[in-house]
Amino acid sequence: MIPALPAAPAVALTTTVRIMLPAGKSRAFHCPARRVPPRRIVSLALLLGLLCTTADFLAQETAPQRYTFALPRMGTLFQIELYAGSKVEATRAATGAFERIEELEQVFSDYREDSELNCLAREGSTAPRPVSAELFYLLDKSLLFSRLSGGAFDVTIGPVIAVWRKAGRYGRRPGAAELAKARAAVGYQNIELDPKTRTVFLKRSDMKLDMGAMAKGYAADQALELLKSQGIRSALVDAGRNLAVGAPPPGKPGWKIVIDSPDTSEANPPCSLVLHDVGVATSGNARRFVQVEGQRYSHIVNPADGAALRGSAGTTVIARDGTTADALATALAVLPVAGGLRVLESVEGAAAYLVRQEGGEWRYYSSLRFPRACRELRKWGN
Ligand code: ADP
Ligand code: MG
Repeated sequence: MIPALPAAPAVALTTTVRIMLPAGKSRAFHCPARRVPPRRIVSLALLLGLLCTTADFLAQETAPQRYTFALPRMGTLFQIELYAGSKVEATRAATGAFERIEELEQVFSDYREDSELNCLAREGSTAPRPVSAELFYLLDKSLLFSRLSGGAFDVTIGPVIAVWRKAGRYGRRPGAAELAKARAAVGYQNIELDPKTRTVFLKRSDMKLDMGAMAKGYAADQALELLKSQGIRSALVDAGRNLAVGAPPPGKPGWKIVIDSPDTSEANPPCSLVLHDVGVATSGNARRFVQVEGQRYSHIVNPADGAALRGSAGTTVIARDGTTADALATALAVLPVAGGLRVLESVEGAAAYLVRQEGGEWRYYSSLRFPRACRELRKWGN
């Protein structure tokens, strides 16, 4: 994850509302045994909602309208689309959802010194350390995806990511010795979870945890849950192309989702699907990368050799929830096509769509469950 961007300006459009939360307070450094999230006061956001015109109150009896909210968090732009009976209702629910995202950023950020994740990385190797329920939950999930993908997905990848970030800053490819040292500290097998005590033990003191490949999907899921708890079911949360898709818009079969592709040729226009109640994630090399010695290196690395991915590729996964889609999309970006699709088929309800450039040609691959609507458009690689 890259550092949180400055808060978006609060601009209200017709049915598009940008809300603003207070920027993260600078906290004195501490490492709480359990995270107790401060309930953030979002007076400005609420004020925006409360200041809506009388027409909005009168509109309560009319059909739900579509509202859009956007706020940069977790190094990406979170967008919430929802249907609500009034702007007040929409703003209140969206504010709650952004508060939830903010809480999760404080748990999972690898950029914030005092995030619970970084505290754990610093202190978790001295003795088993109690952690919050959600950190335990997501670490447990991450180990599941690590085992499933044979280590292509690895939440202990932090030291290698740090090496590549430094390479990007200085524009120099990392040396073999530097990468080897970083790789020695990587290995999901070095995380020990004890569900009885909800503690985590890290077997090495030089470990660095990185939830960048699944925390945004989880945050999108949690934001959608929060909207549901506020009675808003027709909603979609987009966390930088990690989507949690809720119930369809009123009177529609689902949400139109355009599947990202690095292939911009006219012969292969992006395909779109109509979906509801799923997670959808796209991992690509195109949007986030570092430029080193004239070459582009993706922000996704292969834990097997510490190499950052190269070349153009797009990997989209549809799954039961955003967390699963996010983690699988990263794993499938690392794995060879056939191996990745094998892993994918073993996950109930999951489907994938891969775009790869091979020998100068675009090739498309899909899993068996991927909707036909997109599959039939393409020249298939398999
Ligand atoms: P995005 O962040 O664009 O949604 P991903 O979900 O694929 O993309 O996550 C990429 C991030 O995950 C990287 O920035 C890095 O922090 C972390 N990461 C990179 N490679 C791996 C990997 N093999 N396993 C787990 N996490 C990874
Ligand atoms: Mg991911």
